[in-house]
Amino acid sequence: MKHAEQVVFGGSGLDRAAHIRADTAALDQARAHEQARSVVLWRGKPLVQGEGRDTLAMVRMDHPVLEAGQPGGQLFLGLSEAGAPLFACDISSWAPDDLNKAALGQFLDPSEQHHPLLPETHVFAELRRLMSRLNPRDAELAATAKALMGWHASHGFCAVCGVRSKVSHAGWQRTCPDCGSHHFPRTDPVVIMLITHGSSVLMGRSPGWPEGMYSLLAGFLEPGETLEAAVRREVMEEAGVPVGAVSYLASQPWPFPASLMIGCAGEALSRDLTIDPVEIEDAIWVTRDEMMSAFAGEHPVLKPARKGAIAHFLLKNWLADTLD
Ligand SMILES: [Zn+2]
Repeated sequence: MKHAEQVVFGGSGLDRAAHIRADTAALDQARAHEQARSVVLWRGKPLVQGEGRDTLAMVRMDHPVLEAGQPGGQLFLGLSEAGAPLFACDISSWAPDDLNKAALGQFLDPSEQHHPLLPETHVFAELRRLMSRLNPRDAELAATAKALMGWHASHGFCAVCGVRSKVSHAGWQRTCPDCGSHHFPRTDPVVIMLITHGSSVLMGRSPGWPEGMYSLLAGFLEPGETLEAAVRREVMEEAGVPVGAVSYLASQPWPFPASLMIGCAGEALSRDLTIDPVEIEDAIWVTRDEMMSAFAGEHPVLKPARKGAIAHFLLKNWLADTLD
C-alpha cells in the first residue's frame, strides 16, 4: 500500500541510534549534550503545548520537573535531525493538588494536568485525544515513550525467577540481577481487517460501544499463527464468514498499551453472517455509498470511524480507491 506509513503513528524515520544504548560513555555524553531534551510523561499522558495541544513539549535535561522521574528512568529515544539526543522521562509519582481520579479512568480522559514548575501553556493530555494533531515526529516520539514506559511499569519483575529486574540499555531492556535473564519491550500484534464482498465492507461492534459505532473486526494474533490465518480465524469466530485471499495493507503502532495493529484486506467467500455474541454484539455489511454518508456524518445509524485509528485510515483509502 503506497500510503501505508501516512497512518497516525506511521513513523517519521526517527534515528533511534541503538548503538548508543549500551555504551555508557556515549549515553552520558548524550545526556550532557547542550541540545538534549526529554519528552515528559505523566501516567501515560505526554506533555504537550499549544492551543490545539498539537505539539509535544520537551524540556532540558536539567529541568527540575524531571526530579520526580523514576530512578534509572531516563530512556533514550534517539537523535533529532540536528543530532540532538532525545530522551523520555516518566514523572508519574507527582500528584497534582486537584487530581480528578474519575476522569483519568475514562476511555477518552478529557482532563488535563498542569505542573507548577512548567509554563501555563504546557499540560499533560490523553494521547488518544490529540494523536491525529501531532506531526509524525512528535507522534512517533510520544508513541515510543508511552509504550516503553508502560512496559517498564508493568514488567518490573523477572518473568523467569520473580526477582525485581533492572532497567538496562537506556530503557530498551530489563536485566535480572539474580538469574541474568534479559527481557525486551513487548509489542502485541493485532490483525485488523478490511473484509469486502463486492462493494460492501464488513463492520462489527462490541458490547458497550457508543450507539452507532461500528469498526473493522480485529483480534490478537495467537502463537504459531500467520497473519493470514489470524484474519481468517477471527472473522470466522466473530461473524461466521469464510475468508479467501488475504493481503497486508499497513501497520500502526498503537501504544494503548503496547499493540501493533496490522491492517489486512480479505475477500469474503459468503455474505451470510453468524454472530458470536460473546465476541461481538452485531456485524453488518456496509456498502460504499453508506460508508460515504457515514464519513460525511449523514448516515442515520452508522457513525464514522474514529479519526487517527487505522480502521478510519483503511476505510478512507477503501472509499478513495487508494488501497494499492
Ligand atoms: Zn531472573
